[in-house]
Amino acid sequence: MTYTYDYQELEKDLALFRLAYPLIPVFSIGKSREGRHLYGIKLGRGEKRIFFNGAHHGMEWLTAKLLMQFAFDLAEGKHLASSLLAGRCLYLVPMVNPDGVEIAKTGKRWQANATGVDLNHNYDALWHLSKQAEKDNGITGPGPTRFSGAFPESEPESRSVADFTRQNGFDLALAFHSQGEVIYWDFCGFAPDKSYTIAKRFEEISPYQMDSASGIASFGGYKDWFIRTFKRPAFTIEIGMGENPLPIEDLPEVYRRTLPLMLEAIRLA
Ligand SMILES: [Zn+2]
Repeated sequence: MTYTYDYQELEKDLALFRLAYPLIPVFSIGKSREGRHLYGIKLGRGEKRIFFNGAHHGMEWLTAKLLMQFAFDLAEGKHLASSLLAGRCLYLVPMVNPDGVEIAKTGKRWQANATGVDLNHNYDALWHLSKQAEKDNGITGPGPTRFSGAFPESEPESRSVADFTRQNGFDLALAFHSQGEVIYWDFCGFAPDKSYTIAKRFEEISPYQMDSASGIASFGGYKDWFIRTFKRPAFTIEIGMGENPLPIEDLPEVYRRTLPLMLEAIRLA
């Protein structure tokens, strides 16, 4: 079986992280449907709050590994971390959907959580339109992808991430997905002016290109909900190129190409 950065691998990394950096908070923001923790890390202590999350989708576990590597680098003081994080703090939740990752690692083409709800269609952002689009796309119930659930935040994972977001009042959020090297930066025209400026800057300093979501992917996502609810910038960042799941061998190149964007997001928050 090909390598998957699964829940166990994440826990191993977090155990190492705790040993190496005992002063940096590692915590759980809630539990998945099957009782796995949604782990978080907090780096820095400043006023500006930035939130990076990964692996809303089962086959997109490379995003979790990317965020863990970023956490290790910053904790180690790389990328001028202390000046980068001056006046800021970065919250990371690398694996929002651990159950989905566990299912995908068996070789199933699976993006949803354990109950067959696509977590990135389960947020309260014109959710009813996501529901409507399901029918046009032949989705009649729980399954591997794009089923929005019974109501917004019906799932423990999306509910925990939304609660965590409400509690912390983030200034900026990035939701990492794969793949395509694309930046989704708006939601139905609700994005503040700053969103466009930041996305333009991401384009300048990285290979990523701005795009707008269309069709069934347009509603109920985390960044959609964040923009609509808080009127602050949030972005979906589609890492890498190829077919999901992207292989672990892609990580060094994906990291190299995504790093400038991650650093800039912290600077511009
Ligand atoms: Zn995704």
